[in-house]
Amino acid sequence: MTKKLYIETYGCQMNLSDSEVVASILEKDGYGITDEIKEADVIFVNTCSIRDHAERRVRNRIQEFKHLKEIKPDLKIGVLGCMAERLKETILKEENFVDIVVGPDAYRDIPNLIEETKDGRQIANTILSLEETYADINPVRLDKNGISAFISIMRGCDNYCAYCVVPYTRGHERSRDPKSIIREAKDLLVKGYKEITLLGQNVNSFDWQENGEKINFAALLKMVADVSPEIRIRFSTSHPKDISDELIETIATTPNICNSIHLPVQSGSSSCLKRMKRSYTREWYINRIDKIKELIPNCGLSTDVIAGFCGETEDEHKETLSVMKYVGYDYAFMFKYSERPDTFAANKLADDIDEKTKGRRLQEIIKLQQELGYNSNLQDIDKVFRVLVDNISKRSNLQMAGRNDQNKVIVFDKKDSKLGDYVNVKCTSCTAATLKGEIV
Ligand code: SAM
Ligand code: SF4
Repeated sequence: MTKKLYIETYGCQMNLSDSEVVASILEKDGYGITDEIKEADVIFVNTCSIRDHAERRVRNRIQEFKHLKEIKPDLKIGVLGCMAERLKETILKEENFVDIVVGPDAYRDIPNLIEETKDGRQIANTILSLEETYADINPVRLDKNGISAFISIMRGCDNYCAYCVVPYTRGHERSRDPKSIIREAKDLLVKGYKEITLLGQNVNSFDWQENGEKINFAALLKMVADVSPEIRIRFSTSHPKDISDELIETIATTPNICNSIHLPVQSGSSSCLKRMKRSYTREWYINRIDKIKELIPNCGLSTDVIAGFCGETEDEHKETLSVMKYVGYDYAFMFKYSERPDTFAANKLADDIDEKTKGRRLQEIIKLQQELGYNSNLQDIDKVFRVLVDNISKRSNLQMAGRNDQNKVIVFDKKDSKLGDYVNVKCTSCTAATLKGEIV
């Protein structure tokens, strides 16, 4: 490896997974990864467009690279991912020291694009694909813990939720060949990994057909779980409209599929969900939660919530709070609605909830979630969980941290445990965010 790549990733787990694909493509072209930005021959920023704040943060960060180029004129700077797709022309013009702009489906082209910038030209490839899944690329694992890894099982999204930019920046939904997914899982097993998270914007609409055989997400999940009982399987994200009884039964009956479901509700009000184009109602969502609780009584549940979507009334907001209480989520990602250009909401609905009201509603949601998280943790005191040790505690290197099946973080005294071990931990105390316990 004679040349060095420095890559910074923003946004969702899909982006982390994509950065691993990019690292693999460049490794074949002679680039090693560096954590030292000053050593880099190529700097890439893999970007997120989901909210305006995310985009502004990245554009500020890109400015910081300008002076590095002044010191090292041969340095190449690239913007990848959703912002590249959405803002191609703007970035090339306004951040004119950026050499390369590459959309999420064009990563194979990066070595050519770098070559073409040698004469000082700026270059972009933001062509979206109906087929690209990077199935044959064995990602370079950038998270060096060697314990948990992502496998991307599909790309794009066809749901067109009214507020969301993803279908425009990541293109149409396509599923990856299950054979290549299983090959990647087996490779991770051989390398000693203990946890695999299957990734996609809407994993439960996975759909692969070949020679008359059809593999849906429940079937794929089981196939990956069967690779080894020693690897635990997680997945993200599921869409409430597609969470079938078959899928819930598969999770319930397969021991190494974690009992943890991230099921973004976005709003608890059927009228607001309709404006959001989420294609389910409050009643449907509650019915799915009831089914999960019936078949998997100890299931960890988490969600995403948007505060202050177009036209959201005070009553609709209260319905969101009430659905949160009904479910009793372990944790939630909570956001203020941020209008994204060219989405259905931006074109057809007024962003009419003022900032103060959005902020107040978000605070009410966060405050409630803190109570729910604390209550959920309190119920785990005195229980014993099988924990995969995946970190050294931030507070003390005499303590370790890991996650249980339900995806809750538990901190405990190290004793003889080491990273990558499964240990049984009895919970003894908690805060809203963390459980504490001891190995038994
Ligand atoms: N595909 C996943 C799903 O449908 O649940 C998640 C996609 S997105 C990367 C993650 C979360 O960002 C969404 O669940 C939603 O809560 C939030 N989000 C998306 N667009 C948003 C917007 N315009 N404003 C605020 N939050 C947004
Ligand atoms: Fe965005 Fe909806 Fe697709 Fe999720 S399902 S990525 S929120 S359009």
